[in-house]
Formats: sequence, C-alpha cells, structure tokens
Amino acid sequence: MFKDSIVLFKNATVFIMEMKKSEIEQAPSKRTNKEAFRTYYELGKSVNLISEFMRKNGYNAQPIPAIGSNLNLSVMARDAGLGEFGKHGLIISKEFGPSVRIAAVLTDIENLPYYVSDEEAWIKNFCDSCNACVRKCPAKAIYEKPLLFEDGSESHIDCKKCALPFSKQYGCTVCIKECTFFKNNYDKVKNSYDKRKM
Ligand code: SF4
Ligand code: SF4
Repeated sequence: MFKDSIVLFKNATVFIMEMKKSEIEQAPSKRTNKEAFRTYYELGKSVNLISEFMRKNGYNAQPIPAIGSNLNLSVMARDAGLGEFGKHGLIISKEFGPSVRIAAVLTDIENLPYYVSDEEAWIKNFCDSCNACVRKCPAKAIYEKPLLFEDGSESHIDCKKCALPFSKQYGCTVCIKECTFFKNNYDKVKNSYDKRKM
C-alpha cells in the first residue's frame, strides 16, 4: 500500500490480462498505448463484475482497477503466484511473459487459497545473465545492479529517468517489447536456462 492510503479489506484476489503481442511489438506508439488502455478498461469492467458477484453471494468486495490504485499491484500479483519480477520491475508471467496488466478485488473472504513457492525464483538469476532491457531502455532507466534504499528495499528501475519517455512517447513500453520473455515462450527460456546450468 502507498503511505497513508486506506483499503477496506485485507484479503485479495488478483487478476492479470494479456496485452496483445501485435500491439506491444509497435512500442513506442499510439497503437501500443491504446492497447494498454484497452486492458485497463477490460480489467476494470472485470473486477467490477467479480465484486458484484461476490456481494450477491454474501461477501464484501472492493474492486481495485489496473490504473490509479493505492496498492502495488505488481507485488500482489507476485504474492498471488502470477509471476516473478524481472529486472525491468514488471511481473513476468508464465502464460504471457511481461505483457500483462494487473487488477484485484479486495474482499473479506477469509479462506482464499494462497501461493508459497520459489518455482519462479530462477527468473532473477536469468535476468542477471540477460540484461536486454538494461541495454535497450531509451532513458537508461534500468540498472544492471540494483539501487539500494534506506528501508532495505532495492530496485533496478530509476522512475525519474523513465518518466520522460513514458510521458512523451505513449507510455514507452520498450522494456516489455525487448524482454526475452516477450520475444520467447516461458518454457523455451526455462529449458535453455536449465541446459546452461547443467
Ligand atoms: S518504460 Fe521505457 S523508459 Fe521506462 S523503463 Fe521501460 S524502456 Fe525504460
Ligand atoms: S529483458 Fe532480460 S533482464 Fe530484462 S526483465 Fe526481461 S529477462 Fe530480465
């Protein structure tokens, strides 16, 4: 949660939606930006419908849209088992790579399944041998070695540097387009990583 924000319920269901490959391949462009907003819109509609369904079934629910929320949806997606962070600071999912948007529904349902696994921990090691997004970012906003913060957290992304192309070039999105997990299927990347380790 961002500082001083309020949420109604402490449990969540988290959803990802794929952004179409054909549109992300055009990044940065109006088409790519339009596709991002299409997924924001569709995900927004979906979490509203799911919340309505939960309420009709006797539970409380608060839809969290994919844009403008007070929660870090990427962390929630990772904790829900939907993927792992890549060096570009985005979730890499098994099904769709980094080409996803995320939304959620907060709820008072207590017995939701949750996910604890290190199955995707290898992605971080893979990133250390890849660095394609570091090389291709037009603003040099992705660092090979992470920035360390006072609270002990770390990040490879310099948001201030990213902000300029992001705001001036249709949301940029080059780091998704150039990600090895966008250009290749997840299993293919994993197989070649495993072979290299042997
Ligand atoms: S959106 Fe563009 S500028 Fe920002 S990190 Fe990705 S590639 Fe770099
Ligand atoms: S481009 Fe390479 S280093 Fe960057 S997030 Fe994707 S896999 Fe990791």
